[in-house]
Amino acid sequence: MKVNIASILKNEGASMNISGSVNPGEFDFMGSKITFTSPALVTGTIVNIGGTIEISAVITGEFLTQCSRCGKEISQSLSAELFESVENDFSDADPECLVLSGNTLDITGAVEACIFGNIPLKFLCSEECKGLCPVCGTNLNENECNCDTRVYDPRFAIFRNLQKEV
Ligand SMILES: [Zn+2]
Ligand SMILES: [Zn+2]
Repeated sequence: MKVNIASILKNEGASMNISGSVNPGEFDFMGSKITFTSPALVTGTIVNIGGTIEISAVITGEFLTQCSRCGKEISQSLSAELFESVENDFSDADPECLVLSGNTLDITGAVEACIFGNIPLKFLCSEECKGLCPVCGTNLNENECNCDTRVYDPRFAIFRNLQKEV
């Protein structure tokens, strides 16, 4: 996402609105597959304050991923706040995040980093998701099975050990 910041670059106190989009596409994140089927929207402002350029924006989007318990494909929404503050000559800007070329500022890297930083580690199709049977793999939301799953649940193992000690 590129923004022409000519109007504020040399004018202290000046600000401008920005709006655009970044499509992070498809990627693996902490064991989950994340797919943005449409670009994430970015709206915000860029301000030149006392020799500092401050970029603040809200990023919103929708992506597909899988329930961490049962593997069902689910749609999740993302809302993240981006804030970057750099010297007005961009000497301290992270080149992975902000790239100034002439009057054109590319904030794609900063937006993507903000999206990655705001994706949860786990997703559930519902709070009540029963997940898959650890023995036979049946989706317990859809079917029941007769496996003795207590053996495989470490929480119950703790109780059993306590009982032995008593
Ligand atoms: Zn689930
Ligand atoms: Zn089972």
